Amino acid sequence: MAEQESLEFGKADFVLMDTVTMPEFMANLRLRFEKGRIYTFIGEVVVSVNPYKNLNIYGRDTIEQYRGRELYERPPHLFAIADAAYKAMKRRSKDTCIVISGESGAGKTEASKYIMHYIAAITNPGQRAEVERVKNILLKSNCVLEAFGNAKTNRNDNSSRFGKYMDINFDFKGDPIGGHINNYLLEKMNKKEKKEGFSFFHSPCLKLLFVQLLQGGSDQMLRSLHLQKDASAYSYISPGAQIKCSINDGAEFKAVADAMKVIGFKQEEIQTVYKIVAAILHLGNLKFSVDGDTPVIENSKVVSIIADLLSTKSDMVEKALLFRTVATGRDVIDKQHTEQEATYGRDAFAKAIYERLFAWIVTHINDVIEVKNYDTTVHGKNTVIGVLDIYGFEIFDNNSFEQFCINYCNEKLQQLFIQLVLKQEQEEYQREGIPWKHIDYFNNQVIVDLVEQQHKGIISILDDACMNVGKVTDEMFLEALNNKLGKHAHFSSRKLCATDKTLEFDRDFRIKHYAGDVIYSVTGFIDKNKDTLFQDFKRLMYNSSNPVLKMMWPEGKLSITEVTKRPLTAATLFKNSMIALVDNLASKEPYYVRCIKPNDKKSPQLFDEERCRHQVEYLGLLENVRVRRAGFAYRQTYEKFLHRYKMISEFTWPNHDLPSDKDAVKKLIECHGFQHDVAYGKTKIFIRTPRTLFTLEELHAK
Ligand code: ATP
Ligand code: MG
Repeated sequence: MAEQESLEFGKADFVLMDTVTMPEFMANLRLRFEKGRIYTFIGEVVVSVNPYKNLNIYGRDTIEQYRGRELYERPPHLFAIADAAYKAMKRRSKDTCIVISGESGAGKTEASKYIMHYIAAITNPGQRAEVERVKNILLKSNCVLEAFGNAKTNRNDNSSRFGKYMDINFDFKGDPIGGHINNYLLEKMNKKEKKEGFSFFHSPCLKLLFVQLLQGGSDQMLRSLHLQKDASAYSYISPGAQIKCSINDGAEFKAVADAMKVIGFKQEEIQTVYKIVAAILHLGNLKFSVDGDTPVIENSKVVSIIADLLSTKSDMVEKALLFRTVATGRDVIDKQHTEQEATYGRDAFAKAIYERLFAWIVTHINDVIEVKNYDTTVHGKNTVIGVLDIYGFEIFDNNSFEQFCINYCNEKLQQLFIQLVLKQEQEEYQREGIPWKHIDYFNNQVIVDLVEQQHKGIISILDDACMNVGKVTDEMFLEALNNKLGKHAHFSSRKLCATDKTLEFDRDFRIKHYAGDVIYSVTGFIDKNKDTLFQDFKRLMYNSSNPVLKMMWPEGKLSITEVTKRPLTAATLFKNSMIALVDNLASKEPYYVRCIKPNDKKSPQLFDEERCRHQVEYLGLLENVRVRRAGFAYRQTYEKFLHRYKMISEFTWPNHDLPSDKDAVKKLIECHGFQHDVAYGKTKIFIRTPRTLFTLEELHAK
């Protein structure tokens, strides 16, 4: 339990609730939010509510208050978690990780930045130059990744469009010596959503792509990129979208350029980055029309600009846009696109070069921060703190492939949470010699299996559908799901339960997730999973005379007859990356930050009860409290316990003369009649119910 501030701020730890009920949980959460206490513990988990205003709680003085203290000694804060993870890593040479989850706009990325800021602030007291270099790059990498990977959406002005996991490596002194970044699933959207203004390129204005460059680039630079300042000239920037991201776009552009230099991007590489960004904007302006049966490009001037920017030839760009090479038996022919195919190809190409660019930037950052030549025999163990900032559970009015992937990711993380939190508890009880009591909880492995199982799971069924030659429709995929999963307790569709009115359309299926039911529209699953980019574009890019671009497209090396392997599907790639992520996290000691968004208006005052309750539900926070309390709500070393409570017993105040602190604690507990509610471990006292702790606190406060 955290050091109690005055109770006027509510309970600093949810395990102290009188009863574990939703109303009591919500009342405490609301009270604390209204009092500006945005952080609350559940044992070692921090629950955070986005304050939507700057709070003066992240400065040097606060950092000093948390530095080296025990988790429970200070009021709940991100710094408490960061310090706990750091201490475990340093004292016990444990790899640790901090998992930050929550929905869009809940404050995950801000939290991850404060955590990194804290770690940077408390390390390298000796000011070693190499450590400072690594810290600087780790911090600057945020700025670059955000510029390329964030967007303004209607949920969040600075929304991360990718999940991010960052490892920070430490040497035996506990100073950061390197790191590694992984990113997950850059968002992709289909045409239908585009029309509705949710497109990847439309409503969210990617900061650097569409705004910073136009606002911040010099006239000369824009001229060389054939760009004009007026953003409305580019069709990938929808007219309806808010074009200006912030008044500081010009300044931000400079900050990003500087950060890229600090990270070690060479001048020609930075130039290439801008060229790619510009090429994407120009691609969006390409217009196709039909001449007889033949699609033609109306504005061939734009083609030559794109060719110039991508260091290739106009006729090759034009050919890649209008034809695709297909191998039929031994023959290779150029098959002409329809107008629709040409437009599809163009958009897929724009997205693909953007994604390659992003992946290349991440690889580049990793190259400069990767730990090289670490000699464990000289320097001791190299330990790691991982920080995961990843999208939380999503339930929208219309859920599609992206939500399916994101929610699957959350099932995986929930499974990990169950395993690790329960496992940790169990291990602690064993270590302390206390009998283990079985805790009942919903094990969501069954849902994880429903999605990912080989041959039987939804992803396998989807991949099978995508493998089929000929035209497989989304409906046929749904049919296959019905056939194979019809009896699964966590799967249903309208066909299977015609009486179920919540499933309105024949194109819907429902998964009973641990966090609640989600109805997915099957529309677009096949296309998004195949994620087809015509091979011709890959070859076009591989043959670019710009070496950076060429490097981004190694598979373009293969000619059409050599391409035999199908690329892995989007869902399978995502599944593999999730399995690897979870394996990695499972090898570490986890700490959790659960972020909550208080309202949809970005208001610092409003606590939207309904919205918050929903999040508390799907983050499984009540269950978390229950699990925590089902065992022992509180544990503390004998020494620390005495330090806090010795004044409430004449046997221990001011000092005790018993053989050990453990004996003294026993005496103290017995004289207040709490002996039935506690267990004595080897080094710690365990208290089962929070009530006992309240009473102790009350006695202490008297
Ligand atoms: P997404 O999933 O869309 O990336 P997110 O959970 O990462 O969302 P953030 O970008 O971290 O959300 O936060 C959204 C906005 O909320 C921030 O830009 C900032 O204005 C505000 N905010 C979040 N956390 C804090 C905080 N601790 N103090 C002040 N403002 C905050
Ligand atoms: Mg974010």
